[in-house]
Amino acid sequence: MPFTLPESKIAIDIDFDPDHLRQRFEADKQARERKDQLAQFQGLDDVLEVDDSDPFSEPITREPVTEELDALVLGGGFGGLTAGAYLAQNGVENFRLVEYGGDFGGTWYWNRYPGVQCDIESHIYMPLLEETGYVPSQRYADGSEIFEHAQRIGRHYGLYDRTYFQTRATHARWDEQIQRWEVTTDRGDRFVTRVLLRSNGALTKPQLPKVPGIGDFEGKIFHTSRWDYGYTGGSAAGDLAHLRDKRVAVVGTGATGVQVVPYLAQDAKELVVVQRTPSVVQPRNNRKTDPEWVASLTPGWQYERHANFNGIISGHEVEGNLVDDGWTHLFPELTGQHLVDVPVGELPEGDQALVAELADMNLLMSAHARVDSIVTDPATADGLKPWFGYMCKRPCFNDEYLEAFNRPNVTLAASPAGIDGITSSGIVVAGTHYEVDCIIFATGFETGSGPAGIYGYDVIGREGHSMQEYFSEGARTFHGFFTRGFPNFVELGMSQTAYYVNFVYMLDRKARHAARLVRHLLDSGIGTFEPTAEAEADWVAEVRRSNEPREAYWGACTPGYYNGQGEVSKAVFRDVYNSSEIDFWNMIEAWWNSGRFEGLVFEPARDAVPVA
Ligand code: NAP
Repeated sequence: MPFTLPESKIAIDIDFDPDHLRQRFEADKQARERKDQLAQFQGLDDVLEVDDSDPFSEPITREPVTEELDALVLGGGFGGLTAGAYLAQNGVENFRLVEYGGDFGGTWYWNRYPGVQCDIESHIYMPLLEETGYVPSQRYADGSEIFEHAQRIGRHYGLYDRTYFQTRATHARWDEQIQRWEVTTDRGDRFVTRVLLRSNGALTKPQLPKVPGIGDFEGKIFHTSRWDYGYTGGSAAGDLAHLRDKRVAVVGTGATGVQVVPYLAQDAKELVVVQRTPSVVQPRNNRKTDPEWVASLTPGWQYERHANFNGIISGHEVEGNLVDDGWTHLFPELTGQHLVDVPVGELPEGDQALVAELADMNLLMSAHARVDSIVTDPATADGLKPWFGYMCKRPCFNDEYLEAFNRPNVTLAASPAGIDGITSSGIVVAGTHYEVDCIIFATGFETGSGPAGIYGYDVIGREGHSMQEYFSEGARTFHGFFTRGFPNFVELGMSQTAYYVNFVYMLDRKARHAARLVRHLLDSGIGTFEPTAEAEADWVAEVRRSNEPREAYWGACTPGYYNGQGEVSKAVFRDVYNSSEIDFWNMIEAWWNSGRFEGLVFEPARDAVPVA
């Protein structure tokens, strides 16, 4: 259908009606909106019938410890691991890690559901590959391989001897007298540390919808991040033999649901997939790593691959496309450049915005066409089509998900209200009762309660100030690392840092930067570092400005965790710095290389501070 841009009068060839899509987006959004927004969820620990304990490790027994440290790292996922690795590499010896899981890995420790993989290329996702001498076996490695790599990093850098597992921080308080943090844990430990580095993860606390009747169910219930292989049989590779005589419901069709459904479909006697909002599901094209390619790699290859990938998704001019995956095609397409013959940036502003909107819709239509080409039943195919801006929810990449709906044992139970209720023998969706033996919640992780709510402890800085209160209107940092009033505290998560797709790359860069700062503190007699009020305020304003376009986009989206379930001020990425990752890290390098540490203030270390 010919479409003419109103200002430049340039014709665009599209095969959909944008007005029709806009109306449909709005109708679906309205159908999905609910008053309770983020309050619609609860933790696993709020529901007695759902087990929140660790199914993967035997309980560790140990005595509480009291230790005086140079650095304490909270978290043993890839953020904490890379922090430990770079601290060790920088010659820092007196540090510890504290991790809630029974081993390293974070996300990859907990998420062991069948089919778990990362749909970001493993060769750029898994950190420290060259340093540890490892090359992933597949383009998209299985979760177990990613978890093993976390263990490899732990061994390579001697981190097992420095880590307390199955341990949670319960309090973190700055002691001005001794210029140290005091951190206590649920094991009765007491750590007194010069620097506190936090990497507790973004999506770590599993959540369930508050569904009426959840306590009445007489069958089995669990969350995907606490997979019970004792009940299902099999492993993350499949063969869930105990499900062959079971009727199973899986609730949730985000990235986890999309990965798990093909495995459940293959083994369960019957599978009901409860879908509130469909995901965009594009091809993945996994393949084994080519040994010839591995033999051709030269030192610096992973760095080069990161630079190429980040360059493409950040809109920089780069030579070639080394990763050549769905993400590196998606971001350039979102600009709409392929739709017009003139440079998009030279179009009048209104036309630029329209071209971007049409490009977004065009991508969505390609996802619809893929559903139609795979799913044979037209009603089911229609039910699996998403109607929202392409980046309203995380696009998924999977080659078996849509096919699963062609199996006779699989039913799509779709309703914009999601699951309505649970009875002693099943679930209710859109007024229909489905008898099931097992309910598996693929309903994601808590996002709305701020770090203290999610991690279970607040950070108390100078003069007893609470970080949770200080962050009540959103995070406040300088460059995403440092917060005024909380000296020697370093945040290693995504907060106020540039990040688009590869979360672990961001963690690695933050850890590298933080570790050299710790080294600097130890070498130069500095007692504390802390941002100036002005530097922090400027950075917060810069991050807010960077997100204005995204906030407008999210405001028009179907609710989901990206947009705070419709409460955009609580959108999970609102605190992320929406800028080119390349520019951000160049800025950080220039800041470091200047040696001036502009924006930070240092206080000298006080002599002979007695640590009680
Ligand atoms: P998620 O993205 O939050 O998805 C949760 C799902 O549960 C959504 O489909 C949601 O529907 C649904 N849901 C929530 N309440 C419901 C209700 N009352 N009734 C029915 N459905 C309900 O969680 P996730 O899929 O576990 O993913 C968590 C994070 O891990 C995401 O960041 C994801 O991108 C990431 N992940 C990444 C990969 C990878 O390959 N890289 C793989 C897995 C997970 P609505 O959309 O309607 O809210």
